[in-house]
Order: sequence, then C-alpha cells, then structure tokens
Amino acid sequence: MDERLRDLIIRAEEARGFMPADEGLALHRHASEVTVDGPFLEVGSYCGKSALYLGAAAEARGRILYSVDHHRGSEENQPGWEWHEPDLVDPATGLMDTLPFFRQAIHGASLEGTVVAVVGESTAVAASWVTPLALLFIDGGHGSGPAHADYEGWVPHVAPGGILLIHDVFPDPADGGRPPFEIYNRALDSGAFTEVAATGSLRGLQRTGRGT
Ligand code: SAH
Ligand code: MG
Repeated sequence: MDERLRDLIIRAEEARGFMPADEGLALHRHASEVTVDGPFLEVGSYCGKSALYLGAAAEARGRILYSVDHHRGSEENQPGWEWHEPDLVDPATGLMDTLPFFRQAIHGASLEGTVVAVVGESTAVAASWVTPLALLFIDGGHGSGPAHADYEGWVPHVAPGGILLIHDVFPDPADGGRPPFEIYNRALDSGAFTEVAATGSLRGLQRTGRGT
C-alpha cells in the first residue's frame, strides 16, 4: 500500500460515521476493482466516512465520487431516536446538519478534487440524473419509502458490468431493519444482478443483465 492510500484508509477508519473497518475496506476494494468507465455515486454521505473509503479508490482510478445527502439525517438520526448525535444539530435552525462535518473530512483528506458533495433529497437528484455509473453505493434512508425510492431512482443508472453495493443488509430481522434487505432481493430477483461479494452487512452485486 502506498503512503497516500495508507493515509486515506487511516482517515476513513478514524472518521465519524457508520461503517465498520472490514466493510469500509470492502467498499474500497470494490471501487478499486471496477472494470467499466464512469463515475461512482453514493447515497448517504453523513460525515464522510464511506466517502473516504470510496474516494481513495476514485482518486487512484481517476474517477469522480458523487456523494448525495440532504444532510438532515435519517429518521433514526433525529432527536430521541437510537442513532442521534446531538452535536450534529445546527443551533440556528434546530435541524441536523452534517454537511460541515462532511466538508471537513473531505478537505482534511485533500479529496476535494475527487469527491463532489451533492446536497439534496436523493429522489430529486435521481429524477434528472442521466450519467451511467461504474459504481453505486446505497446507504441512505433505511425506511421502506426511502430505500425503495433509492432503488427505483438510482439502480437503473448502474452501467452494464457496473457494481451495486448495498449497506445494512440483514437477512435475519433480529439484526436490523428490512428495507435494505428487500432492495437487495429486488436486485437479485430482477435477474439483472449477480452477487459477487458479501462482507458483514455489505452486499456487492454486478450488473450482468438488463433492467431492474
Ligand atoms: N455512509 C455513511 C452513513 C450514511 S447514514 C457513513 O459511512 O457513515 C444515512 C444518510 O442518509 C444520512 O446522512 C441522511 O441524511 C441521508 N439520507 C436519508 N434519507 C435521505 C434522502 N431521502 N435523501 C438524501 N439523503 C438522505
Ligand atoms: Mg449504513
């Protein structure tokens, strides 16, 4: 591993967020091994942890990583919910705002030329997206509505031979919520994707057919 990559992986491991180290390294490996042209895109930036793992590979491959998030937090990040972090609330608005933390992480890693923040509602961005993606990572809202909307809005943009990564896939309901598992099954049932790897709750699929 060269020095630049080592530095980025350490930054990713130390960054704030929801990505165990083994799954983050798997993200990085998938992005490093992509065989088709096109940018990478993730849904669910939060404070930039997964963007550092994917961005390290994007930089090395000369690709752009678009990182989509409204930065207002998912349902489970709101006050009173399980995954709330009070210092992420903007006192001026009383709303969560992870964008400053994201920017700090990307700037600190000198990845501003590679990682492009797209700030907005995922479905609104997806609605006018046209560029085929070499890699798509879905880690946004985990409720049924947002997860299926992300599937419908973004998965059609995965290029032939491109990679679809889905986080928080829990086959056993005792381990976590259903929607990421449901969209993983949608991808497999569509016949357009073949599973290539599984690491923890991360699933890696490759587009081997048409449709969604
Ligand atoms: N990948 C991150 C974790 C993402 S947490 C990491 O590695 O740590 C999920 C993120 O999805 C939150 O930041 C939340 O704001 C965002 N999100 C949830 N629903 C969204 C939607 N409909 N549009 C845009 N972003 C959304
Ligand atoms: Mg996740």
